[in-house]
Amino acid sequence: MDDIEKNAARLGCLTCPSVILLPGVGTLVKTEFKLPLIHKSSKDEEENTEFITRSWMIPDMFQFENVGFSKTVGNFKYLVCADCEIGPIGWHCIDNKTSYIADMRVKHMES
Ligand SMILES: [Zn+2]
Repeated sequence: MDDIEKNAARLGCLTCPSVILLPGVGTLVKTEFKLPLIHKSSKDEEENTEFITRSWMIPDMFQFENVGFSKTVGNFKYLVCADCEIGPIGWHCIDNKTSYIADMRVKHMES
């Protein structure tokens, strides 16, 4: 009995109809990542952050349906919706090429 949980629903952008991840692609993991709050404008600096504790791990960027990069901070690139550029919705680790989507920053699209 393993406890690996994959995303059952499609994961989509909170603000536009874009699909970010298809079902079964992400693996639920516990994280402790301090991610800046979502800003409409990329000109805002990330003065406010929150801890992301539940994330979907995606080992390969090609497994995304729609995602874009915003800024690079240290060893990480922030991920944004490729269509409306809202974000960050997750982060990408440059060292091991693994990406994480914050569960609280995407919509579970049933059906
Ligand atoms: Zn979007």
